[in-house]
Amino acid sequence: MLDNLLSEVDVQHLCTLLDKAHNIIVTCHVSPDGDAMGAVLAFSHFLWRKGKNAQPVVPNIFPDFLKWMPGVERVRIYEKHENEVAPLVAAADLIICLDFNAPDRLQGLQKPVTDSQSPKIMIDHHLDPVDFCDWVVSRQEMSSTCELLYRILVQLEGLDPMTYEEAVCLYTGMMTDTGCFSYNSNRSDIYYIIGRLLTKGIDKDKIYRNVFFNYSAERFRLMGYMLYVKLEYFPEYHASLMTLTREEQKRFSHKKGDTEGFVNIPLQIGKSRLSVFLREDTERHNIRVSLRSVDDFPCNRMAAEFFNGGGHLNASGGELSCTMDEAVQIVRKALKKYASLLTDR
Ligand code: 5GP
Ligand code: MN
Repeated sequence: MLDNLLSEVDVQHLCTLLDKAHNIIVTCHVSPDGDAMGAVLAFSHFLWRKGKNAQPVVPNIFPDFLKWMPGVERVRIYEKHENEVAPLVAAADLIICLDFNAPDRLQGLQKPVTDSQSPKIMIDHHLDPVDFCDWVVSRQEMSSTCELLYRILVQLEGLDPMTYEEAVCLYTGMMTDTGCFSYNSNRSDIYYIIGRLLTKGIDKDKIYRNVFFNYSAERFRLMGYMLYVKLEYFPEYHASLMTLTREEQKRFSHKKGDTEGFVNIPLQIGKSRLSVFLREDTERHNIRVSLRSVDDFPCNRMAAEFFNGGGHLNASGGELSCTMDEAVQIVRKALKKYASLLTDR
């Protein structure tokens, strides 16, 4: 059995907010990943089952390898259909914010959401939630927002009513946010929940293949290029760096999601503690920074100090407004500053 996560007061408050609302927007952070999409779709399925007019909305496009998810055809992309989505957000009587902790993670959707007078709910597992919602569950110890959402839904109504579709979406988020249960996944509750989800008939092996055996040939060529040509390893820091320019993305017909997971690969180098990935954004004129680490190396501290970002201990991100050469110099500075934490082992 799982411990109850919410207090009775929280449950009552959440039930009241859900009962009172009919037109509900369910949304997540920009560049949605499996956990964000899983949570948005699982919650939407739950609300549809309750007869609500729930509209899943994402700030911008999501990767092709998530297009198989049940209910995905009902998701509206704000960036593509601003004129259609903005009025829905304005007219909503509840907005549910999943898998993010601050309104600026909504990018273009930030203003419509914060302008809206409707109550807002946040369900998230990132550090340091910003105070912009009326009801907040923020649990950084959770493997994923989907794990957190599973626990909330089961606390609200038990496991019985949960559908196959909800279970598939929740499992997808748990699986992707833990690198297929290879990090941030040592709590036994996680495996208890997987066991429960399997009773809904989900095929977890198929879900794995749907996500990870679903890439384009271009992604593979780009991965080969990155590892062979672009990977720089700093043995003195047990750290690696990969950079990807706009021109290279064009050359390899890069599509959103094609570089997903690349930053994790260099951690497979023995003794590796940190991996940094810099990518020139094709939509905005900046450089996206991704950091991954193992054990207790604090990516989030480095991201906050050097890359205008933050995140989790072992997975963080940020952005830089400079040239790629300047960004590489900033990475070198960061490695130098954190040398003792990278090498003291
Ligand atoms: P990714 O490398 O996948 O873009 O991001 C990894 C994690 O870092 C995300 O789950 C999120 O917690 C955090 N993150 C990414 N970008 C940003 C950012 O610009 N600001 C902050 N505060 N956190 C970020
Ligand atoms: Mn997440």
